[in-house]
Amino acid sequence: MTAVVEACIGLGANLGDAQATVGQALACLAADPEISRLRASPLYRSAPWGRQDQPDFINACACFVTGLTPLALLEKLQALELAHGRQRLPGGHWGPRTLDLDLLLYGQQVIDLPQLQVPHRWMHARAFVLVPLADIAPQAGIAGHGTVAELLVGMDTSQVVPIGG
Ligand code: AMP
Repeated sequence: MTAVVEACIGLGANLGDAQATVGQALACLAADPEISRLRASPLYRSAPWGRQDQPDFINACACFVTGLTPLALLEKLQALELAHGRQRLPGGHWGPRTLDLDLLLYGQQVIDLPQLQVPHRWMHARAFVLVPLADIAPQAGIAGHGTVAELLVGMDTSQVVPIGG
């Protein structure tokens, strides 16, 4: 039998109809035969990070059970980014994107490969990741940092606002 783990991902978009894009990406993952028991957070609007001269982001997180290896899952996420017309405008890293999918957690595993670091390198410090993740996995542990709920204590979450809230 294939070993399965619970993986958690972060979704972000800030070009085009970002809300629809994130919704479609969640629907694709929920329909994927290699993914089961998907739980998705509500959608949030967050102020842009890194570079301020770009539209707000729509963010969400999802956790699901999968038998995919971490690299196979990363490949699936990157294919989904491409399928949603991911484009990067000039300005490099931290610029606007149609769809950004990050592998945040893969069970309890710590992975340090050139193309994949898990837990995601900056997730412990990003309110736009931790706020939605706390909706679905508050007790998830981020190796070396504590649980999602613990990390949120004292963090400024004022820039991460529920859609419609
Ligand atoms: P980004 O600008 O966030 O989309 O960065 C994408 C690059 O980050 C890809 O080349 C991935 O191989 C690499 N990467 C490293 N760790 C991760 C991770 N945990 N989730 C997604 N991409 C990752």
